[in-house]
Amino acid sequence: MPFSVKHHPLRFWRHVLPWLVGLVPVLCGLLIMQWQSERELHNRSEATAQRVGNQIERILANLSKAASDLLPLAGQPCINEKLALRDQVTRRAFVRSTNLEYRGELYCSSLFGPYSEQVDTSDYVEGKLWLMDGNSVTPGHPLLVYRLAEGERAAVVTVDGDHLIGALYLLGNDNYLILQVGQHWLDRAGKVQAGMVPQPEVAATEFVSTRYPFSIHSGFSEGKVAQQMRSEYLAMFLLLVILGAIAGATCYWQLRRASSPRAELQRAIEANEFVPFFQPVVRSGDYCWAGVEVLMRWQHPHEGLVRPDLFIPYAEHSGQIVPMTRQLFQRTAQLLAPHAELMEDGFHIGINITADHCQDMALLDDCRQFLAAFPNDRVRLTLELTERKLVAPSDVTHALFAGLHDLGVMIAVDDFGTGQSSLAYLRQFQVDYLKIDQSFVAMIGGDALSLHILDSIIELSSKLGLGIVAEGVETEAQRDYLARHNVDFQQGYLFARPMSGQAFIQALQAQGVASATDNQPLTFDS
Ligand code: C2E
Ligand code: CA
Ligand code: CA
Repeated sequence: MPFSVKHHPLRFWRHVLPWLVGLVPVLCGLLIMQWQSERELHNRSEATAQRVGNQIERILANLSKAASDLLPLAGQPCINEKLALRDQVTRRAFVRSTNLEYRGELYCSSLFGPYSEQVDTSDYVEGKLWLMDGNSVTPGHPLLVYRLAEGERAAVVTVDGDHLIGALYLLGNDNYLILQVGQHWLDRAGKVQAGMVPQPEVAATEFVSTRYPFSIHSGFSEGKVAQQMRSEYLAMFLLLVILGAIAGATCYWQLRRASSPRAELQRAIEANEFVPFFQPVVRSGDYCWAGVEVLMRWQHPHEGLVRPDLFIPYAEHSGQIVPMTRQLFQRTAQLLAPHAELMEDGFHIGINITADHCQDMALLDDCRQFLAAFPNDRVRLTLELTERKLVAPSDVTHALFAGLHDLGVMIAVDDFGTGQSSLAYLRQFQVDYLKIDQSFVAMIGGDALSLHILDSIIELSSKLGLGIVAEGVETEAQRDYLARHNVDFQQGYLFARPMSGQAFIQALQAQGVASATDNQPLTFDS
């Protein structure tokens, strides 16, 4: 079967390619969305770190002013400056406590007044900043200490950890944010820890203050990219999936089309693979070749010579029978016209056409061109129209059959006896011949009832005044019976099988030579 030729690699691609075409854009789109989401998160993380850093710098600037105001008082007796220390606590928004240091000793505090505590400057990063996890007043509560020193004097100011935690919560709470001061760091949970700062999985960025010795680490926890993609690109992703599905389905449809019987027939038409075979028709009596029926064969590159009943139904269904028959007309004319002298005058050339063919005036041009290839009156073109599918009368068919008649083209009803043609039908299309279907010819030699059916068909045909051709003649008994019952022409394996163009021409030549020397009919087998 020409349409079931196996092409395994093609079949593989037919299944895989639509998936690729559908999935590749979706996957590429996903990668782009992921990249875009990561970029957006990175930018957001950087901006957040910067804003939080700026806020902490603002707090420290507030502390720095208080320390600057107090620094000149360091070294003065505590009892005199106690009020000045408390004044700063009251006036400065972020200041929680103030202290004075002299010669390495904290000796005056806004909270306690005079007291004594040794200062270890190594606690302070760059001698300036110390992130503590609490003091004796509020143990376990974070505290940031700012120290401004000049010579033996220093002012030490603290800010409550709540202000720092508030700054870390400044921009929403989906960020991962950490304040680092030297070895110590503070996260949103409000716990001061020492050691390595844990890094976030996504968009890790760091803001390093140029004014004070601290930095802010920012980023997002795992899964943030997927969450971002879902919230920002869900609609675009769905659109991509729909477009991918459409692209995949279109690809699948195109591939199916390309591997359909229609596409295969189209390829064969373009490759000129349809060739004419020829089966002679003999005249009852002398059994000389009075004509020939052109039968289509498909010279398939893989399947070899393919019988018409395996592809003609597809071609009729798809409408491709029209260009295929046109090629057959042309190839038959090319083959036979140069040997026209081998044929007797009025030699019949029968070509099969379908009912659909008759709805197109182009058939008239095909016939005209065909006849023009032969010398005048050398051949008679007969169009064989099967009775199995009747022609629907229309304005086009009337014009077409009138034109064919004027051109001298004859019409034969093929497979006569198997269909439903009426007398009106035969008249309407000006039928010239009836071809008795081979199933009736096969009845010869059978029972009396079968023979009676055949006789009735022959009688009907002659009463209609039409020429009669019997096809499928295989035995001499059939031949003689048909001749006795005045059937004009016969066709069948008894006389010759369908043969290639070359074989037909050789047979014609041989017949010419033989009939010149001996008047006996010839039989051929391809
Ligand atoms: P058909 O027009 O009735 O052609 C006669 C069929 O009977 C041919 O088969 C022929 O080979 C076969 N045949 C001839 N003598 C004998 C015989 O003595 N015994 C038996 N058993 N068979 C015989 P083929 O060539 O296979 O064609 C089959 C059918 O395909 C044709 O039946 C015709 O309907 C269709 N066909 C062939 N060529 C064309 C074409 O060019 N156009 C169209 N539309 N149909 C075509
Ligand atoms: Ca026929
Ligand atoms: Ca037939």
